[in-house]
Amino acid sequence: AFRPARRIAHIGVSEILKIGARAAQLKREGRPVIVLGAGEPDFDTPDNIKDAAIAAIKAGATKYTTLDGTAELKDAIVAKLRRENQLDYAANEITVGAGAKQVIHNALMASLDEGDEVVIAAPFWTSYADMVIIAGGVPVPVVGREENGFRLDAADLEAAITPRTRWLMLNSPSNPTGAAYSPADLRPICDVLLRHPQVWLMSDEIYEHLAYGNFICTSPVAVEPALKERSLIVNGVSKSYAMTGWRIGYGAGPRPLIAAMAVVQSQSTTNPASISQAAAVEALNGPQEILKERRASFERRRDLVVKALNAIPGITCRKPEGAFYTFASCAGVMGRKTPSGQVLESDADFCRYLLEEHDVAVVPGSIFGLAPYFRISYATAEAELRTAMTRIAGAVEALS
Ligand code: PLP
Repeated sequence: AFRPARRIAHIGVSEILKIGARAAQLKREGRPVIVLGAGEPDFDTPDNIKDAAIAAIKAGATKYTTLDGTAELKDAIVAKLRRENQLDYAANEITVGAGAKQVIHNALMASLDEGDEVVIAAPFWTSYADMVIIAGGVPVPVVGREENGFRLDAADLEAAITPRTRWLMLNSPSNPTGAAYSPADLRPICDVLLRHPQVWLMSDEIYEHLAYGNFICTSPVAVEPALKERSLIVNGVSKSYAMTGWRIGYGAGPRPLIAAMAVVQSQSTTNPASISQAAAVEALNGPQEILKERRASFERRRDLVVKALNAIPGITCRKPEGAFYTFASCAGVMGRKTPSGQVLESDADFCRYLLEEHDVAVVPGSIFGLAPYFRISYATAEAELRTAMTRIAGAVEALS
């Protein structure tokens, strides 16, 4: 019989994918399910980007490229980091992979030895912990409480650091909470890191362009330049430019780390798709106006969802600064009974009830490391969001 490797034996298929599969099954049965689970923009990739890809195909850019990114794309990333983040990186401090996910995987595989610890600011994107485990490391989640805006508290971070800690993984704006860190929020965290020189910082800035109101995202590396020599900035085009399927992400960090990551990539996928890389060059160098329009649209949706959720007795929702997620508490409905007689004992129970009896798919907070909450992805048309909110309100009202 097949015996899975120890490194993956305890890693299941993502819970989000399972919920998605169940929602798809209900849809096939004719149910009008609204899925607020997926972490991807509903918008299409802008036409100038698609055209650049078509032009690349016609020009014969269909062969292997440099292992971890073409010179053109690395230059575009260097220019982006200078333009938008006021950070100076050389082209040989940039790496490009098949999505931010591969970049993170490369970094963990390149740096972790068996038993090394990685502190993860929680609630967190579930993949982080699984990727740490696959790389032989030990995930150490540290929860940011709602009173602290779901942000990591510096004292909690300091308490979690041991001599074996190799990384802090920080994600701002955050999946799943939408929480983002201002320079003032980052300062005490940077100070802790300065006191522990063995700990590197992995700063996942993939939702950088999705911040609302007056909030401006700042990289921790810009807040504390001394951390640059032990930081990896992770970013990509998936979320900003609605390019999830193209699979282009990138990292910026010290040359020895970038070189080690190239070794990992060279023995797995080699270069990311040549055509996608040409498209990403256009995304970064081309007109950026569309980002503003889309951001405004996401902001309206955020406001709609937050307002609707807070109007439901038993549900409370903090207004997030960015990304396209809300992370609402369902503590107020715990212990209540559904019309079919089930007592809701967890956020997973509540989410199952919403999907099975009210045709709305959302994701329990417990899988991101904090309960009882549920995550909504509002990267969906406003009309659909309104219907979904009405259904959730009806579902809660039906509880006794
Ligand atoms: N980082 C975070 C926090 C994410 O939520 C995601 C996708 O859901 C990624 C990285 C991966 O993005 P990519 O499509 O670039 O692999």
